[in-house]
Amino acid sequence: MRRFRKAKIVATLGPSSSSPQMISSLFSAGVDVFRLNFSHGSHELHQQTVDIIRTLEKKVDRPIGILMDLQGPKLRIGTFANPYVTLKPKSLFRLDRDAVPGDETRVAFPHPELYSCLEQGTDLLLDDGKLRLRVLSWGDDFINTEVIIGGALSDRKGVNVPGVILPISSMTTKDRMDLAFGLEQGADWVALSFVQHPRDILEAQGLIKGKAKIIAKLEKPMAIQYLQEIIDLADGVMVARGDLGVEMAPEDVPSIQKRIIRQCREAGKPVIVATQMLDSMISNPSPTRAEASDVATAIYDGVDAVMLSAESASGKYPVEAVSMMNRIITRVEQDDTYTQMLEAARPQPHPKVADAITTAARHVAHTLNIAAIVTFTDSGATTLRAARERPDVPIIAATPTLTTARRLSLVWGVHPVLTPDIHSFTEMVNKGCQIASDQQFAKQEELIIVIAGVPFAVAGGTNILRIAKIEAFQRRTKT
Ligand code: PEP
Repeated sequence: MRRFRKAKIVATLGPSSSSPQMISSLFSAGVDVFRLNFSHGSHELHQQTVDIIRTLEKKVDRPIGILMDLQGPKLRIGTFANPYVTLKPKSLFRLDRDAVPGDETRVAFPHPELYSCLEQGTDLLLDDGKLRLRVLSWGDDFINTEVIIGGALSDRKGVNVPGVILPISSMTTKDRMDLAFGLEQGADWVALSFVQHPRDILEAQGLIKGKAKIIAKLEKPMAIQYLQEIIDLADGVMVARGDLGVEMAPEDVPSIQKRIIRQCREAGKPVIVATQMLDSMISNPSPTRAEASDVATAIYDGVDAVMLSAESASGKYPVEAVSMMNRIITRVEQDDTYTQMLEAARPQPHPKVADAITTAARHVAHTLNIAAIVTFTDSGATTLRAARERPDVPIIAATPTLTTARRLSLVWGVHPVLTPDIHSFTEMVNKGCQIASDQQFAKQEELIIVIAGVPFAVAGGTNILRIAKIEAFQRRTKT
C-alpha cells in the first residue's frame, strides 16, 4: 500500500474521530501521522486511541506515526458566577488571585509567574485575541486593566501576552505527567507547546532521553527571535498558527511561516504547517477557495506535512477534510510550477559524505528516469538528508528499527518500510530491488538507486550509491 504524494497529512483525533472504524477511514483517506492533543482527553482515552492505531498498523502492515501534543503553559482566567460576562470598552477590569467566581469587574487569574514580568501598557489578549485588556497597574496579586476591545467572556478562556517572555518552563506538572504516560505508550513525536527559548528544548530532551523525537511548536513571538537555535536543537518544527496568529499581527504570520519553512528545509528537519487549514470544513463538506489555496501554498513552499485540528477532531466531516487535503496536495505536486519552486528554493548540500551521496542520488534520478531511491537507514538520518534534496522520485526508507519507520512517516517524500538489517552488498541490492518492487514503486526492468553505508549494520556511515535494475526474478515476496 503506497501513497501517490510526497507531502504528508497529520490529523488530530478527538470526539469526531475516536472509533476504530473512523481512524481506519482516516488512514485510508490519507492520514500519515495521528496527533493526540493532550489539552483534551484522559489518559484512558488516549491509551484506547493508541491501541486502535497500533492494531490498524498491524492490519494494514504500514508504519503509522503518533504525535503527542503537550498542552504547555497555556494561561487561563478562572470562572464566572454567571455563564458569561460582557466587558465594555473603556471599563476597568481586574485580574487577581482570588478564586471566587468573577463578574463584570474582576476574575481570578492564577498565574503568579506573569505578575512579575508586566509593564505598563502591556496588552493581555483573551479568548484567542477576541478581547484586549491594557495593563494600567499591578501588584503581587492583582492586575488592573482597561478594556480596549470588549465582548463576551466565559469560564477558563485562554490569555495571551504578546511580547513578554514568561519566566516559566514550556512544561507544566501536567505536561510532565502526560509526557511520562505518552512515552510509555510509545509516542513517536512529542510536540512542545509555547516554546520560548532554546533551553525549553534542552529541558525536554533531558526528560525524553531519546525515547521520542521532539517537535517545537512555534507560537510565541519570542521563539521566532531564537528560531535558528530552536530549529538546530529540535528534531522538527510546527508552525502553530492558532496561537501565533493571536500573539502576532495576522499580517506577520504568512512571512514568518515562509521563513520557518525555509530555515527548516535548510536544516533538513521536518516542518508542519498547522491550524485553520480547512477550518470551514468543521461544519461544511467542502472548503473555501482561500483555504484550498492556503494548503496549496504550504505545499508549494515544500513543507513536510500539513495538519488538521478541529476539522478531524471535532468537526462534522473528518474524512472529507483528509480527502480534500489529499486531493489538494496531489494536484499541487503534479504542477510544473511546484517542481520549479522546489528547485529554486533547494538548499546547498553541506560538505559531508551523506549530502554528497544524497545530492548525487537526486542528479542520477533526474538523468536516468529512476523509479525510486531506497535508503537503508537505522536512525533515519540519511533518509532525512535525502528528503532535504526534495528529489522528483519517491524515497523508500528501509530500516530494521520500528520507531525510525514510524517517525519517518512524517517526512516529505518518504515511504518507510520495516525490514531486517542487511549484511552484504549483494543483499543490499537484492533487498532494495525487492522492496521497491513489492511496495509497487518499481516494475521489472526499471532502475532504482540504493544508498547505504559500508560496513553494514553500523549507524552513521552512508557512503555508497548503487544503481540497480529490477530483475525478473525479483517478484513480490514479503520483506
Ligand atoms: C496552534 O496554536 O496552532 C496549535 C497547533 O496548538 P493548539 O492546537 O494546541 O492550541
